[in-house]
Amino acid sequence: MAGETGMIYNIQKYSLDDGPGIRTIVFMKGCPLRCKWCANPESQETFRQVGHRASTCVLCGKCYMACPKKCITLAPDDERKVIIDHDVCDNCGACVEVCLHDAMRFYGRVVTVDEVWKEVKKDLHYYFDTHGGVTISGGEPMYQPDFVAALLKKCRSEGVHTAIETCGFVSPESLDKVLPFVDLFLFDIKHMDSDEHKKWTGGPNEPIQQNIETVVKAGKDITIRFPMIPGVNDSHEHLVKLAERMVELNGMAKKPIGIDIMPFHNFGENKYQNLGMPYFFAGMDRPPQEKKDEVMEIMTSHGITCVVR
Ligand code: SF4
Ligand code: SF4
Repeated sequence: MAGETGMIYNIQKYSLDDGPGIRTIVFMKGCPLRCKWCANPESQETFRQVGHRASTCVLCGKCYMACPKKCITLAPDDERKVIIDHDVCDNCGACVEVCLHDAMRFYGRVVTVDEVWKEVKKDLHYYFDTHGGVTISGGEPMYQPDFVAALLKKCRSEGVHTAIETCGFVSPESLDKVLPFVDLFLFDIKHMDSDEHKKWTGGPNEPIQQNIETVVKAGKDITIRFPMIPGVNDSHEHLVKLAERMVELNGMAKKPIGIDIMPFHNFGENKYQNLGMPYFFAGMDRPPQEKKDEVMEIMTSHGITCVVR
């Protein structure tokens, strides 16, 4: 049945960063964009993937022996230790089955709404004590709109506050399916210029801006999230354009819309290694304090509530 099962890659408990209160985060697999700074590369593909974690690998060679495609190389002198030829690997999982050290692992599993709800409801008292709830993240939650709508509906029916973190690059039909069951949207704006947006994320920004307006006009709680990436979208001119768009959106809204600034970090870099993917921003530093102060000053001078995360 549509919406009964979904592909997730993680459920994270006790989060304080993804909506109000204490929250459980359900990470969906699959995303229509390919942001070059993505901190969750394991979220991008819609299918279950095999990856290798060098930190627990003991180089026993069991995976090498088990692989029917012969696409594993043991590399004792390489910091990756085991190298998978992902062009040949078909994610069969034979290597995962034989690895005793959790070094070969799947990213992604199919779950039912009931399975996720069983996990989520273990922390009901935290949600109710702290005005927390459940946040669906990704990947892009609305890439699996039937499953996510069904899960959010279940949470709502049990009195649990719901939020989604979205890149917004989804069809209006997908948004329509999910929108009635969301209490709070954490909605990305990554670049105000559509050509630049496409260059850095793989998609234009017009559908995103249109979907934001749909959410705002529906009277939903919404916070804009801005990943501030050095050299991509952190120029003074761009930050002013973003502030002006925030003023425009607030003019359409029934409730004030604030912005969370998410400064670049490279915490996801090792996951690129695990999956044998190139990492575009290797070695890049986090934005300096002056840049964080600058964006704060620009937003507040436009009357926008701003939090730098
Ligand atoms: S990934 Fe697992 S099975 Fe393969 S060499 Fe490392 S510890 Fe052994
Ligand atoms: S998942 Fe890939 S690397 Fe692992 S055994 Fe199958 S084909 Fe080989």
